[in-house]
Amino acid sequence: MPAAFIGHGSPMNTLETNRYTESWRAFGASVPRPRAVLVISAHWFINATAVTAMAAPRTIHDFYGFPKALFDVQYPAPGDADLAVEIQEVVKPTWVGLDHDSWGLDHGTWSVLVHMFPDADVPVVQLSIDAQKPFQDHLDLGAALAPLRERGVLIVGSGNIVHNLGMLDWSRPDDGFDWAYRFDEAAKDILTNDPGRAAGLAGHADFHRAVPTPDHFVPMLYLAGLASAAGKPADVLVDGYAMGSLSMTSYTLDAPATVAPDGAGA
Ligand code: ZN
Repeated sequence: MPAAFIGHGSPMNTLETNRYTESWRAFGASVPRPRAVLVISAHWFINATAVTAMAAPRTIHDFYGFPKALFDVQYPAPGDADLAVEIQEVVKPTWVGLDHDSWGLDHGTWSVLVHMFPDADVPVVQLSIDAQKPFQDHLDLGAALAPLRERGVLIVGSGNIVHNLGMLDWSRPDDGFDWAYRFDEAAKDILTNDPGRAAGLAGHADFHRAVPTPDHFVPMLYLAGLASAAGKPADVLVDGYAMGSLSMTSYTLDAPATVAPDGAGA
């Protein structure tokens, strides 16, 4: 089964159709129907590694100041309690808690999946990001999830490699600052050549501007770990910038060669 990292950007992408959402849709349509989707979302960033294990995860509207239409979105995909237990087993000795009632599907997950699997008929589980772990541990945990790909699970990281909300520039809706380009290109170079080195991006000169907080960066490390485990580079699905300080670049691993309506990528 392929895998992906998606640069999800604004929650408004849920309601829009643009070249990013079209690339997510094309990717979803191109992959074999997954048994389930496992999402590592920037928006479940806590002090433990946990996995959703409820039968019917709720749609969480974890943002403020957006139109009512966004709060009305529901993504009623079923959960997969058996997969949650399988995840606990496959990543041992890393401990993973089963979450029965605290989380659900946050907008890092459903803003992408409404495009990727619009019928919400593929089971979805989320894996939390343990905020206390160093980057290399997240990459290694991603690699440990690799056997799930052989069992029909589509693994998707959802974040943004460059994500600095304090420096948003509304006069640049589809452009990035020079430092955003530099960092995103450095990430691209590593992910498409030697993804096992992705944690080393923390040493890049623009790291602190591109990644002022680690939450949106870390989901990429899971795809880097999967790529490293497979011994293959990742491919660019779509790339671009939003409002100066966000990169929208998305990557795939082992994707069928039909994706990306604008010609970028695999
Ligand atoms: Zn986000």
